[in-house]
Amino acid sequence: MAVEISRSRIRSVVSKEEEEFVSTHPKSGALFERAKKSLFRGVPMSWMTEWPGSFPIFVKEARNARLTDVDGHSYVDLCLGDSGSLTGHSPGPTADAICNQVHRGMTCMLPSEDAIWVGEELTRRFGLPLWQIYTTATDADRFAIRLARKATGRRQVLVFDGCYHGSVDEALVTVKDGPRVAQGREVIGALPNPASRVIQFNDVDALERALSPRDVACVLAEPAMTNAGIIHPEPGYLDALRDMTRRYGTLLIIDETHTICAGPGGMTRTLGLEPDFLTIGKSIAGGLPAAAMGLTHEVAAKLQTGKRFGIGIGGTLAGTVLQMAAIRATLDKVLTEEAFQRMIAVATHLADGVAEVIEEKGVPWHVNRLGCRAEYRFVKDPPKNGAMSEAVFDPDLDALVHVFMANRGILLTPFHTMVLISPQTTIEDVDLHNRVFTELVETLLASN
Ligand code: PMP
Repeated sequence: MAVEISRSRIRSVVSKEEEEFVSTHPKSGALFERAKKSLFRGVPMSWMTEWPGSFPIFVKEARNARLTDVDGHSYVDLCLGDSGSLTGHSPGPTADAICNQVHRGMTCMLPSEDAIWVGEELTRRFGLPLWQIYTTATDADRFAIRLARKATGRRQVLVFDGCYHGSVDEALVTVKDGPRVAQGREVIGALPNPASRVIQFNDVDALERALSPRDVACVLAEPAMTNAGIIHPEPGYLDALRDMTRRYGTLLIIDETHTICAGPGGMTRTLGLEPDFLTIGKSIAGGLPAAAMGLTHEVAAKLQTGKRFGIGIGGTLAGTVLQMAAIRATLDKVLTEEAFQRMIAVATHLADGVAEVIEEKGVPWHVNRLGCRAEYRFVKDPPKNGAMSEAVFDPDLDALVHVFMANRGILLTPFHTMVLISPQTTIEDVDLHNRVFTELVETLLASN
């Protein structure tokens, strides 16, 4: 019999924790007041206000799996820049390679030999034969869409409800009044997008209905959804996606930016996927902005348009010698096969511990894991698609978990209760997380 947690109990614990946060972070609070005078919303990037507490903590230093703030608190960082620092912060080999390259040129608009090493390694990991380097995952997705339109002569893009692929306009959509014209999501400035179609993940019939008019240039998909909680593909779904895209002449873009957590070649390698394009950003340069897009020879053959190819694709600061040095060091020495084995084992330890507490205390929650990423949600069964995930989002509990954890030295990713494990995150770090998780559940049940 699942235990109920009362709303009033959640609210009273949140307000106590918020007070605690404010009183123990006076320096961050003062810096935030000062920052508001020169920075829009008091931060250099507006997402940073979405952290728990009345203001963001200000960073003093971040190394490996730990972060220290200006008030002197040290945190086990399970957010890791929402994958940008999946490598751990400032991993030694990447930092050394960057420092070394910084003194020998950063941006030349010319290739270096490191670029070839990177192309060869990306092929070894993911299977696709040809690569381009961009600056962000958003860029990689946006340009893959453009190239898919060029290669197919079609304009529609199909995405999944609840997806997130950065600031790609075609993907900032949700299912409202049916899938034919996607509605703008509640994102500033996003519009209903006549060039997008959006359906629920794990629904083969909806997929066929969306693709059968033969006007969809590409499907942009994570192989498991990670931005609406972790949503695994149901058995056979990814096969159906590949078969149907081929049948209806649609190209398949697999975005491995987050699902690299499944292993060194992402889910493309673990499941033997065969995408037409593969995109990946965030972690591949250890925290330096860099992303990659792979494509097949078949697609490349359709894109031979003469010498002036690049205008409006990529960017002046994309594929730089500095990015290439950073990606090379990160792939060669940090995000290695052995590192992933360790990261996945530590994540499994965390998820098993959380599952035990959920079971033992009888709370109607669950924990889900994909490689070195885990997420707990406040509902008994894992949602199967974006709509189901949205319907069970619990903003009160979400806010509570984040501030409760932060007050006890643990940072979780804002927006969701997600944890990431870096190569340097230890069993002791996740044991601390699991003790705090137990304390949280006990606190919530205390006066029920
Ligand atoms: N793809 C996926 C799957 C993502 O989750 C994100 C961002 N969270 C992006 C692309 C875009 O990454 P960026 O904001 O670094 O461009």
